[in-house]
Amino acid sequence: MKSKTSKPRKIAASAALVGDLVAGSRILAKQGVLDGYGHVSARSDKRPEHFILSCSRAPALVTAADLMEHDADSEPVGDPRKGFLERFIHGEIYRTRPEVMAVVHSHSPSVIPFGVTKTKLRPIYHMGSFLWSGAPVWDIRQVRAENDILVRDRPLGAALATALGSCTCVLMRGHGMTVVGESVREAVFRAYYTEMNARLQLQAEGLEGPIQFLSEAEGKGATAANRGTHERPWELWKREALGGK
Ligand code: MN
Repeated sequence: MKSKTSKPRKIAASAALVGDLVAGSRILAKQGVLDGYGHVSARSDKRPEHFILSCSRAPALVTAADLMEHDADSEPVGDPRKGFLERFIHGEIYRTRPEVMAVVHSHSPSVIPFGVTKTKLRPIYHMGSFLWSGAPVWDIRQVRAENDILVRDRPLGAALATALGSCTCVLMRGHGMTVVGESVREAVFRAYYTEMNARLQLQAEGLEGPIQFLSEAEGKGATAANRGTHERPWELWKREALGGK
């Protein structure tokens, strides 16, 4: 279906970044990490204090015309369309983590049990090695006793960013997770493999333990090695999500 807006608004992003954001949204929807909810954003490559995130729309439907520029306080710039209620997740992480270039927020089903129990999500295989730094659990009640679970303003976003700290992934109690990366492709890779790692860890919990997780050194090493291979799954996932060559 064609968007009613025929001409994309001018936003501070290169064509390459726009392409990666559209592909990233559709890939994560296709792979079952995002459903009707969740979002992928990128730090602007033209105005680094701003970030790019689609208007409030299901990730599988996102097109270039849906992308909006947001300022450092997570407010859309010169765009009257409705933004995501939880856009503050993105803005507050970009504020505190200058090296982060992309953020994915999802309600990835297999991670939910790790946000509501004492069992820690840990790297069970090399594809989940970036979890070596730990995946802290953020409990919104610690910031606001009366809440509706949603990260609907800046103070909540800032508290989530503090809980993330220098980690790659933060779990959100009774809600989902947020992962970061140094590119859209890395954040998409991490969102996908956080879900896979959680699924495998849940399976291993039912077998005779203790589970042999990756050590910190193995986790660091595999994270560095994986960084050189992101293009391989990206090419495949993009073709599956968008078609073409
Ligand atoms: Mn959410």
